[in-house]
Amino acid sequence: MGQSTSPDPRRRQLLRAMTALGLVGMPLPALARTGVQRVRMSVDGDTTRVVFDMDGEADYSMFSLQSPDRLVVDLDNARAIEDLSISDNPRSVIKAVRHAARNGSDLRVVFDLREPVEPRSFVLMPAQGAPHRLVLDLDAGETPAAPSTARDNGARRGRSQEDLRDVVVAIDAGHGGHDPGAIGPSGTREKDVVLQISRRLAERVDAERGMKAVMTRTGDYFLPLRERIERARKADADVFVSIHADAIANRSVQGSSVYILSERGASSEAARFLAQRENQADLMLGGVPVNGQDDSLANVLLDLAQSGSLEASNTLAERMIGELHRVGKVRRPQVERANFAVLRSPDVPSILVEAAFISNPSEERKLRSASFQNSLADALLTGLRSYFSTHARPGTLIADGQPDQHIIRPGETLSGIADRYSLSLSELRSLNNVRDDRIYAGQVLEIPRGS
Ligand SMILES: [Zn+2]
Repeated sequence: MGQSTSPDPRRRQLLRAMTALGLVGMPLPALARTGVQRVRMSVDGDTTRVVFDMDGEADYSMFSLQSPDRLVVDLDNARAIEDLSISDNPRSVIKAVRHAARNGSDLRVVFDLREPVEPRSFVLMPAQGAPHRLVLDLDAGETPAAPSTARDNGARRGRSQEDLRDVVVAIDAGHGGHDPGAIGPSGTREKDVVLQISRRLAERVDAERGMKAVMTRTGDYFLPLRERIERARKADADVFVSIHADAIANRSVQGSSVYILSERGASSEAARFLAQRENQADLMLGGVPVNGQDDSLANVLLDLAQSGSLEASNTLAERMIGELHRVGKVRRPQVERANFAVLRSPDVPSILVEAAFISNPSEERKLRSASFQNSLADALLTGLRSYFSTHARPGTLIADGQPDQHIIRPGETLSGIADRYSLSLSELRSLNNVRDDRIYAGQVLEIPRGS
């Protein structure tokens, strides 16, 4: 990588990409984050000024939400050093401030507003003893963008709900057509059982409020791997879930595993081998070579890390593994990584689920059974729910109805937090998939809204 002190931002980005992909042998995420020390507020006439005091620079973006009115500020690669709070001032347009970690390394700060505002922002470098600052000026009493005479709450809510979209889950049944995938000892074909499981998952996703399923293939036909990615992207998929069944010469091997993309360096020899085999799908038709060196590889790497989609993929995979434990044996308790061509979407978090070993006679039987297929689809749906509870993008129904979050501070206990929000310990545990009472400072807990 040359000199690590290079100030060139492109170089820094590439280093960040390599780091995020684990290519420099570091765990994810390994970069120092900008700390937000506090948030200050002052009011001058109709203008509320908010100042973030920070120990470094941070890229940021902001947007407004309605019903209720909120201003959301996202700081990239940042964290709150202390619980950010403001003192109540009835003359201020801000009612309250909340914050939560986002995408593992970013900080989201949400201001609850008394009315819509027109925000302006600028940054200040350290000067006269003051640290890095991000300053927001919020002007109240702005006329709404659209002329609105009736301020009827119901009507407003009705309109804004219509604007909210469903999160889109792309479900990719592996193989198809002349490519049967792996074949079990009794002749069960991977392409058939994974299509059945995918259909059951799609039914569940479509029945879920705020979620919509898009299947890359709905019947027994061949699709090149790139076409699968294309179909998901055309449907504006929020996530991509590819469903397969594993096979290995040793028939005693059982269990599920979940994979994410690694362009280089598989997490194990078995993972590398599996990815090679799954990538064969295209070669069987003399399709596009998928293992060849791609000119845009560096760009893809950058895109992946920049959009945070690899990290989101990892989170999705972890949530899925957590649920698969309830259905059957999990062969690999960690998220596995390998170079699966079908997971190579720069902007859609993507995972590949090997549901079970079709080469194992007992799992082959299970893969054919409706009850196992249903439990599996249930588990994957729960994994999706868990993922979207923290990763639904703004503008989706799920994000809008999202529970509030609590960031654990040093010294806090799970029972103390449960008390604080009038929840039972078991409610808090099950909502957050916490099996024991081990928690850590900085961990984000979901708290049902209104608690
Ligand atoms: Zn497969």
